[in-house]
Amino acid sequence: MDVLTKDLLVNFLLMILPLLFIQIVYFYSYRNRLQNKEGKLAAIFPAISILLCLSFPFTINEGFLWDLRATPIILGTLYGGYPMGIFLTVFTIFSRGLLGGDGVLISTITLLLMWVFYFIFMKKFQRSQIPGKILIATLLVSFLVICNLTLSYIIFDVMMPLDVWITFTLINIVGLMIALILWEIIRSNFLILNDLIRAEKLSVVSHLAASISHEVRNPLTVSRGFIQMALQDDTHNEKQRYYLDTALKEIDHATDIINDYLTFAKPATEQHTLINIKEEINHSIKVIQPLANMNNVSIIINENLPENAMLRAEQKQFQQGLINIFKNGIEAMPEGGILKVYAAQQIDGYAIRVTDQGVGMTAEEMNRLGEPYFSTKEKGTGLGLMVSYSIIRAIGGTIKVSSAKNQGTSFDISLPVYEVKK
Ligand code: ADP
Ligand code: MG
Repeated sequence: MDVLTKDLLVNFLLMILPLLFIQIVYFYSYRNRLQNKEGKLAAIFPAISILLCLSFPFTINEGFLWDLRATPIILGTLYGGYPMGIFLTVFTIFSRGLLGGDGVLISTITLLLMWVFYFIFMKKFQRSQIPGKILIATLLVSFLVICNLTLSYIIFDVMMPLDVWITFTLINIVGLMIALILWEIIRSNFLILNDLIRAEKLSVVSHLAASISHEVRNPLTVSRGFIQMALQDDTHNEKQRYYLDTALKEIDHATDIINDYLTFAKPATEQHTLINIKEEINHSIKVIQPLANMNNVSIIINENLPENAMLRAEQKQFQQGLINIFKNGIEAMPEGGILKVYAAQQIDGYAIRVTDQGVGMTAEEMNRLGEPYFSTKEKGTGLGLMVSYSIIRAIGGTIKVSSAKNQGTSFDISLPVYEVKK
């Protein structure tokens, strides 16, 4: 193995080293709920990679450093976006500048030229699957390397043997591919772990719900019976009658809540039927209307659905899923406001959007939505959205949230088309 290859392999190892440390930071930030800072932290790793590459380069001619820094720069920029790209470009030009030599000029020109490619390919890259990403990143790294070599030749007459050109370009490309694949593996591992923890918590909740709901329901039924018997007595005055009525209503309310969580806890008995989306939305709004009135919230409905927009789902559950989202919207506006419910047909399904003008959420809070027991409310259960999410997902739908602190929140529900009868 010639010296060039050996040197570049060492360089390669140093380049991917920081990638492995990212995992540790990921776990740390997950454990400490630092998701929002992750973006800023992530910039450290390509920067360390670049420094390591620069520290152990391969030199043929005085003033020129050959190394694999192209990979952390390109991948860092493509994954991290424009701000990260600017940081990495400036950082590299600066660090390379400190080392001096004619290569500084070449390196600077190339790095700036790369921005043409970033502008063209950034969006495409971020939307692509892994093969597409590899293709784009390979194209970029090839351009960077060849541009570097060519400019060195044109401007400073640096002549490298052809086999060095080829080896250098190839090691750059292979190095980049390996780094990209490693990064994708680390990322997907982390996402899987995230889901796993969530699922684990979910199963605990549903077991708990199933076991306590029976225990609580029985005493409630007995109490209800006695209150009803008491009501049949004529000896009560107006006031006592009112007390008993209220107690009865509240017990019914408690039973309703338990029933709703119970339906969630026993998916085995689910009975999916064809339900009319419009009717279900209207019904759910009717149920939530008293709460809205109490909070000075007016609900504006804008439905653009065909009469026969049907869905295959369990009726009570679907309503519950919507009600929980409406309820959160109303609760987010303690001073009152407007809750907009918008429903429409789309090419591939139906969309329901619920928008409030309430307190909104931070990125970190949004990240935790749907997690059991996550609540920022004094009397919150942190179960509402978990139920909504699992119901909507069970019927093949998705929920997306967008929110800005103190401005409001939008829940976008997409539902699959079941059947449109003429
Ligand atoms: P709970 O309502 O009992 O707190 P949820 O699961 O319904 O539980 O909601 C979890 C948390 O998500 C809430 O405590 C709140 O912080 C946040 N949240 C949900 N919906 C909204 C909304 N529309 N606006 C602001 N925050 C919301
Ligand atoms: Mg709630």
